[in-house]
Formats: sequence, C-alpha cells, structure tokens
Amino acid sequence: MNPADAEAALRTARLDVERIVTRLVTTAYGEQAVSLRPIFPGAASRHQVADPLPGLWAAKRICSMAKAEVRRFARLAREAGHTWPQIGAALQIRDADYHAPGEAAFEYVAERIYDTPSFSWRCTAEGCGRLIRDFGPLPSFTAEDTEGGHAPGCTGHGGLAAHARRRGLNP
Ligand SMILES: [Zn+2]
Repeated sequence: MNPADAEAALRTARLDVERIVTRLVTTAYGEQAVSLRPIFPGAASRHQVADPLPGLWAAKRICSMAKAEVRRFARLAREAGHTWPQIGAALQIRDADYHAPGEAAFEYVAERIYDTPSFSWRCTAEGCGRLIRDFGPLPSFTAEDTEGGHAPGCTGHGGLAAHARRRGLNP
C-alpha cells in the first residue's frame, strides 16, 4: 500500500512540523523565544521561527514523540497480524547493514532488555489476549523463543505465525 501523492502530503506535513516545533517553544519558553523572520533571505514575507537553542530542544522532543508513534503503529500492525516484512515494507526502511526490511523494522522499534532485542504487543486472539514478547522475524529454535507469551493452545495469528516460523514457512 503506497500513498497516492506522497510528495504533496509530505510538503504539508513538513510545514505542520515547523508549526508544532514553534508552538512547543512558545508554550515552553514563552513568546519571547519566537521571532518573525523572512521566509528566505531578502523576502518581504515573514514567518514565526523559534530561537535556535529552544528550537533544538523542541525539535528533538518532537522526534522522540514521532518515534513513539512509529512504535505504537508497529504494535497495532503486529496485533492486526501483519508480519515484520510487511511492517518493513510499509516503513520503506533500509539500514546501513543491508538487513532485509523486516529485520531492519524490528531493529528500529525493538527495546533491548539485557541486550536481547524484543518488541511487546498484545495478542488479539480470542481466549489469549496476553502480552507477547516478540523476538523478531528471524527463525528461532522454538516458538517460545521467537514469540513468547501466548496462552497455551493459542491459534490466533500470533500463535499460528509463530508455529509457521518455527517450521520455516513464514520467516
Ligand atoms: Zn495468542
């Protein structure tokens, strides 16, 4: 699934992000931390721009919030039964180590607990509903290792996917 007109949508979003950064600086630092500046050198039109250091503070916080949104949607995607390769394709993600998109997506959103990357989501299968600790798209020795936490006998997408991966059918 690809956006119909990604470039136009992204241009609008870029302006929205600038406004959000400016608004966050205004809220956190007050009006004095924002000034009117030409939209480009020599231009008559002006727009509100945050002072550089508060702007850095705000832009970094917005980045963190956006990353949290990536993780939230990855959780929703896993709960809806989408695979890591599908999530990687939607993110259009590439990493420096040339991992497959599914692996790169998992690495991007995973938390590291005792140096082991994992990603948590809740199984939506009837009779399960448990919090799943997902160890990513690479096949593992057991389903428990790859996707741990399903209720015994869970046959929902998570359980089935884990069993398929264990058999090497759906890496
Ligand atoms: Zn389950």
